[in-house]
Amino acid sequence: MTDDPLFASLFAAVQAAPDDVALRGQVAQLLLQRGRAAEALQHAAVVLQLDPGNALALHVLADASAALRTPGPTDVGDAATGTEPPGRPEEGFDWRRAEAELGRSVPPPFVESAGGPQDGPIPPPEPSDVPEKIRLDGEGEHVVDVEVERPDVTLDDVGGLADVKQRIRESFLEPMRHPEIAAAFGQTLRGGLLLYGPPGCGKTFMARAIAGELGAHFVTARIDQVLDPYLGNTEKNLHAVFEAARAQTPAVLFLDEIDALGARRSSIGSGWSGLRQMVNQLLLELDSVTSENDGLFVLAATNSPWDVDPAFLRPGRLDRMTLVLPPDAPAREAILRHHFARRPIAGIDLGQVVAATQDFSGADLAHLVTSAAEQAMARSVAAGEIQPLVMADVQHALGQVRPSTGSWLVTAKNVAAFANADGRYDDLVVYLKQKRVL
Ligand code: ADP
Repeated sequence: MTDDPLFASLFAAVQAAPDDVALRGQVAQLLLQRGRAAEALQHAAVVLQLDPGNALALHVLADASAALRTPGPTDVGDAATGTEPPGRPEEGFDWRRAEAELGRSVPPPFVESAGGPQDGPIPPPEPSDVPEKIRLDGEGEHVVDVEVERPDVTLDDVGGLADVKQRIRESFLEPMRHPEIAAAFGQTLRGGLLLYGPPGCGKTFMARAIAGELGAHFVTARIDQVLDPYLGNTEKNLHAVFEAARAQTPAVLFLDEIDALGARRSSIGSGWSGLRQMVNQLLLELDSVTSENDGLFVLAATNSPWDVDPAFLRPGRLDRMTLVLPPDAPAREAILRHHFARRPIAGIDLGQVVAATQDFSGADLAHLVTSAAEQAMARSVAAGEIQPLVMADVQHALGQVRPSTGSWLVTAKNVAAFANADGRYDDLVVYLKQKRVL
């Protein structure tokens, strides 16, 4: 209701002083009195994030929740700005929208541990654009979807992992940005980068960030669509995917799960010659990429580099291997901040959660916050009012979600101990020694 001058002034005041709980509490109460229960509830919930025991806000929250449960005219405007919403919920209260509004209104009220945030608040932005899909017609019914996007994330959005980022900058990005200097030092720009590490730890995210750094398109295809049991089709699909990427240059072609495409030829045996042909086709495609001329960069990722045919790792191919480790403390903090920021929370001790989530992957951390939110949501539904996510919810979720990187570490340990004659896994050895598992 932008036409009400009183509220226009009040919203402006709230926007100027978003943490002023007394002001926001009064605005919430007034909104409720004027029958604008949804907005009242949003402001009351923000007050409770800042001041969990605030009596006025609790009172408004309870009354606003009750008003919203009984059908009647309600306004759901933008609480912070007083602008009209693009649409209004058909029936009931739009919890999703309210959560989103809350997330935007104020930074989440974390209990900062001593020293505060270690790496600054780095909520990794979501991609702004939905990937465009290019359909490649395979043989018969078979179709391969190639996704193309221009990522707006950069390495700064990848939380923590300072060493890995530094190495990527030095070994990949700088030579790409300064080809003449690289050439003067005899450095070739041919060849791609292979990211490896446990699942869910940010390889794809890192690859998108690299494309973002280069200002290049990020082109990717689903491996299960590329693989085709009919003789010769996988090779054709692979070639089509490389061609589609060439049409988008400058582009980063991201080959996820490269182990599925580039399996060790020795392990394939004589069983299915189609697999060998596929590996050969991929080698052919990689050899045909010369990024100096093409503006096409190949990034590949795998959870199990030990299953990738060593031919792929030769110079000019995927000749730079980079270990992407489970998120360290700053990375976990950045990832957790990102997930908590979208939810109503109170008194979350981020430092404590970071300390309790060693070895958690990025995906495990997302799962942890979702589980805790489910618990808070169930409580809110039972109480008929928004009850913010609190530490007890996180503790409960911690009892249920275990780090998924364990089995990867066991395999990695064996590889590091018995299959590192050529020093390929030196980074892994250092990491495992640090963790005292080697
Ligand atoms: P992978 O490709 O290694 O299986 P993803 O890149 O899909 O893993 O990461 C899983 C999730 O965790 C993604 O949502 C990603 O954004 C997040 N994530 C993982 N590591 C980080 C990090 N260091 N900083 C920010 N987000 C991360």
